Amino acid sequence: MTKYDYDLFVIGGGSGGVRASRMAAAAGARVALAEEYRMGGTCVIRGCIPKKLFVYASHFADDFHDAQGFGWSVGDIKFDWPALIANKDKEIARLEGIYRKNVEAAGVTIYGDRAVFEDPHTVLLLNEGRRITADKILIATGNSPTREMGTTHIVPGADLCITSNEAFHLDKLPGRVLIAGGGYVALEFAHIFHGLGSKVSLVYRGDKPLRGFDEDLRDALMTSMQRRGLDVLLGCEFTGIEKRGDCLHAETNKGAVIECDQVMLAIGRMPNTMALHVGKAGVQLGKRGEIVVDEYSRTSAENIYAIGDVTDRIQLTPVAIHEAMCFVKTVFENKPTSPDHELVPSAVFTTPELATVGMSEMKALGTGHAIDVYKSTFRPLKHTMTGSEERSLFKLIVDAKTQKVLGCHIFGWGAAEIVQIAAVALKMGATKQDFDATVALHPTAAEELVTMRTKSYSKEV
Ligand code: NDP
Repeated sequence: MTKYDYDLFVIGGGSGGVRASRMAAAAGARVALAEEYRMGGTCVIRGCIPKKLFVYASHFADDFHDAQGFGWSVGDIKFDWPALIANKDKEIARLEGIYRKNVEAAGVTIYGDRAVFEDPHTVLLLNEGRRITADKILIATGNSPTREMGTTHIVPGADLCITSNEAFHLDKLPGRVLIAGGGYVALEFAHIFHGLGSKVSLVYRGDKPLRGFDEDLRDALMTSMQRRGLDVLLGCEFTGIEKRGDCLHAETNKGAVIECDQVMLAIGRMPNTMALHVGKAGVQLGKRGEIVVDEYSRTSAENIYAIGDVTDRIQLTPVAIHEAMCFVKTVFENKPTSPDHELVPSAVFTTPELATVGMSEMKALGTGHAIDVYKSTFRPLKHTMTGSEERSLFKLIVDAKTQKVLGCHIFGWGAAEIVQIAAVALKMGATKQDFDATVALHPTAAEELVTMRTKSYSKEV
């Protein structure tokens, strides 16, 4: 019996915290978890899951249109935003219940409270005013959308804007929406609102959205957005937002004033470490307020660990879950295990979506690889009957010397589903010859991955 109330206290009931608490309890630890809001965290409550439900909702606009090419007559169509919100809320409540049940079934005590540090082994539950001690403490508090648009200040009127948090609970679908940012959240919501019928303008400070992604994917997305009638303002930032009557007026650095019904900020997320009093526990923060951890997710305090978005490594649910498993192996199963952050696949759920695993062309060249590039763009079979001009892009980056596939990038329907499986091949170290030796599954888009025989070009720096 230790001198502490628990062997492990987890702060945060999101993907990382939930997995860590369940696995640690299964390994025999006495575990408690504090969650001040709802179990499930960003992914379940205000991120991946409700977002994907919205993405499905937004696709029907294309489906109704495309159906006509196949002989269907579609009558009057009408979209009911409150119905979508109500059904989404019902599903999220169901999922939250499952999360809670699973954690409790694992024998973990849940405190519906905000926990802050008092010292390296003690947390204070703020509402209850109760102190709890634990041998090990895991910080899994996630991150939140930021409103800090300027480098040194918040742009006037930022409080009039919504973030993705509020976008899930709007009373009505905005007729005209301006979205600031050019990352995952901005692009996904731009397509969601556009698909549901809003007039969307994306305001991005750079020259092309999705910085860091393969250039061909970025180009394919830009072309698709223009084709779809999404307004993309590049090299553009807000300088102020004002409410005039029922409308918002957003002023940009280009001198334009754009009138709209909602302005959404999707300009990144900041680690949730404010007011956690980590200083009292000797836990060091990095420049963005993230918890600094070593390769085993251990913080600067010997008994305190951190996983997931709060560490600002890779902000993805499956990564947080993986980090949780590694944490439990390291601390409770005596098998020191570092999370593997290589070849993590990800997708941006635009319409159509794009997905990627491994190196972009630029990254491969920048890290000293001579490369062979295989690229194919085509009109998907379905669209030969719909009249849509949408095109898909498949791209493989191959190391010229070893023929190992370094990166796989897809824009088009099913990209995320295909890349998940391609990631297995890349993780196993598959070469281009392994792809070539695989028999195609016809007729699919995915078969393109194993039928691109002719090299598009080779490059080295
Ligand atoms: P991202 O980091 O993806 O994008 C932030 C965007 O905001 C960038 O385009 C950035 O521009 C821009 N930006 C940053 N600061 C400013 C500023 N001061 N003024 C104007 N623009 C600014 O953040 P998101 O919030 O979109 O997503 C956060 C993370 O959540 C992602 O990194 C991703 O890991 C995860 N996520 C994953 C999803 C998925 O898997 N489908 C979906 C949603 C989120 P610049 O490029 O010039 O820096």
